[in-house]
Amino acid sequence: MMQVPLTVGSLLERAETFFPKKEVVSRTLSGIHRFTYKEIGRRTRRLASALDTLGVKRGDRVGTLAWNHHRHLEIYFAAPGMGAVLHTINLRLSPEHISYIINHAEDQVLFVDEDILPLVEKVKDSLTTVKAYIIMTDQDKLPATTLEPVYSYERLLEAGDPEQSFLQDINENDPAGMCYTSATTGNPKGVVYSHRGIVLHSYALGLADTTALSEKDICMPVVPMFHVNAWGMPFAATWFGSKQVLPGPMFTPKLLAQLIENEKVTVTAGVPTIWLGLLNELEQNHYDTSSLRSILCGGSAAPMAMIKAFEQKYNIPFLHAYGMTETTPLATISTLKSYQEDIDEEEKLNIRSKQGLLVPGLQMKVIAGDNEVKWDGKEMGELLIKGPWIADEYYKDERTSESFKDGWLYTGDVATVDEEGNVKLVDRTKDLIKSGGEWISSVDLENALMAHEAVFEATVVGVPHPQWQERPIACIVLKDAFKGKVEKQEILDFIAPQFAKWWMPDEILFLDEIPKTSVGKFLKRELRSRLKDYFFE
Ligand code: ADP
Repeated sequence: MMQVPLTVGSLLERAETFFPKKEVVSRTLSGIHRFTYKEIGRRTRRLASALDTLGVKRGDRVGTLAWNHHRHLEIYFAAPGMGAVLHTINLRLSPEHISYIINHAEDQVLFVDEDILPLVEKVKDSLTTVKAYIIMTDQDKLPATTLEPVYSYERLLEAGDPEQSFLQDINENDPAGMCYTSATTGNPKGVVYSHRGIVLHSYALGLADTTALSEKDICMPVVPMFHVNAWGMPFAATWFGSKQVLPGPMFTPKLLAQLIENEKVTVTAGVPTIWLGLLNELEQNHYDTSSLRSILCGGSAAPMAMIKAFEQKYNIPFLHAYGMTETTPLATISTLKSYQEDIDEEEKLNIRSKQGLLVPGLQMKVIAGDNEVKWDGKEMGELLIKGPWIADEYYKDERTSESFKDGWLYTGDVATVDEEGNVKLVDRTKDLIKSGGEWISSVDLENALMAHEAVFEATVVGVPHPQWQERPIACIVLKDAFKGKVEKQEILDFIAPQFAKWWMPDEILFLDEIPKTSVGKFLKRELRSRLKDYFFE
């Protein structure tokens, strides 16, 4: 067969050729923008040529600190298209981590959204490699800044060549993108995505049994474009010619609901806390969400009660998927098999709230010690994955040897596998609660708690205990209508039938808010540290 390299630039070329009229809609601080793929193509080529002029060379890293919008999409293709590496930076990290990441990746230029400017100004003196800052706005809106040299995105584009061709002699194994993932301790760890990995992952998003993304979709990634490339959706959606809706900075559940209604979004993607917020909004106000064929949810476990509410109350199909920064990210996805259509609804929900089946193209095993666990839905072990879109190292980082061994990625996630091959994550290794020599799954307790009608959000953490090593404590945020009206005993009684006595939380704490990570997951580390002396006081 022909050795034709799989390249990121070719994804956009297809959209320009076959779908020039299809739209990318984006919301920025200056309102809604609509561009066709033809226009996006020409703008991207201008940008690629402007990067040339700025002195960006093959292999150089191009950093972005930006929300989901069309300009960010253009960099997604311009940087890899001219041989450079798209480096999306999580703008919600601490200034220290952001500065570490930029220096460690040796970013040559930095694209910055206007509202992120103060953050970059704060760290600029510590940046050792950045040669130019590009503010993602029009020339006449360029704000005063202490950064230099500074360019406006649109002025840079004007000077670029709209006919610039993408590099043709790219090796498909060359880096096209990179992204840093937060580490439990120490600095973030860099993951590099090859052209080949991104293209193969895009194929995976198009499969009928995964997310089935297609030209007919109107795709709205809510997951940030700095969080594992918005789960690869902008690459695949562009390639397939899907209309894209990019929700921009500081979106609220109301805004998302309006975008779904106005743009007739068919597929949207994000972490569970986003969908808890949307559910709350749908309960309070009416929106037409009938266009939605799928909410793709991953990043943390999707509570079964949430899946049920979306599907049964609002008729919105829900799709639960699992992955990590190291896996580009799609690794498993939860669907029913054809012969499972007749089983009862509760059991179906139970299966679909698991993380699901391995995506075609990947391999997995779950090991406890040296042995693989039995596929009985009970034996737990660490999930290991390999495949053509799985990273094989951390970028210039000694911690590579902790997670990559014998050709496998050690995910650090504890899982069971049922007889059908469905993976169920029990916990992250560090979140499992160790009580009296046994393990308690915080995820199972959270799932049960979130099924209570008064509960908006719930998370369970292991707290040091003088006798049992650790005991579970549940932290709960009640829905507004139930605040002050629910006793903790009522909630404990509600979940008690599902668990052995020793699994039950020792305490339920009602909070106003659960702290979240930079990508919207429950920040258990923070709760553990707040509660560390709870049983010793
Ligand atoms: P971070 O470590 O900053 O959260 P990632 O986004 O790479 O960065 O997180 C990957 C981790 O998120 C996985 O290892 C797993 O623990 C968790 N995760 C992802 N998807 C799911 C899911 N569907 N259910 C439960 N946990 C998930």
